[in-house]
Amino acid sequence: MSDCCSPEKSASATEGAPQAKTKAFCPQCKRPGRTVSTLTLKHQVRPEFLTAVNHGAFYFCGTPECQVVYFSVGGLTLTKANVRRPITQKDAENAPVCYCFGFTPAMVREEIAASGKSTVVERIASEMKAGLCACEIRNPQGSCCLGNVKAVVKAALVAHGS
Ligand SMILES: [Zn+2]
Repeated sequence: MSDCCSPEKSASATEGAPQAKTKAFCPQCKRPGRTVSTLTLKHQVRPEFLTAVNHGAFYFCGTPECQVVYFSVGGLTLTKANVRRPITQKDAENAPVCYCFGFTPAMVREEIAASGKSTVVERIASEMKAGLCACEIRNPQGSCCLGNVKAVVKAALVAHGS
């Protein structure tokens, strides 16, 4: 997981890198989740759930309208209320899109409104090269945000009409 920001994998970040050997499906929305490490869970869940995540494989649900954030194959689910931060995919207006450097969708839109383009992807990429990202602990999905950032930039450019 420490190579989560390597350029080869970042392109597929939105679709979920094929890390899991077996697919697991969210009990609420029935969509496939992506595997997350215990390290990710320990940083993301509220203190009262620290023990609950000690055992079993957990998955992240990125479905925007689904309340479940993490679920285990054992049937435990943790919802938005059980985690410490708003989730990019589920709370687009209040969550950062890049958790390591704090970029928000509003910042992306403001830059595009002012200059007609976004430099956020380049800025994140250069920070990544310098080894300054910590997606496994900062990002609730446990992997690099670049795919999400690219999607936000694309949508903002379309909305801007460029
Ligand atoms: Zn779900």
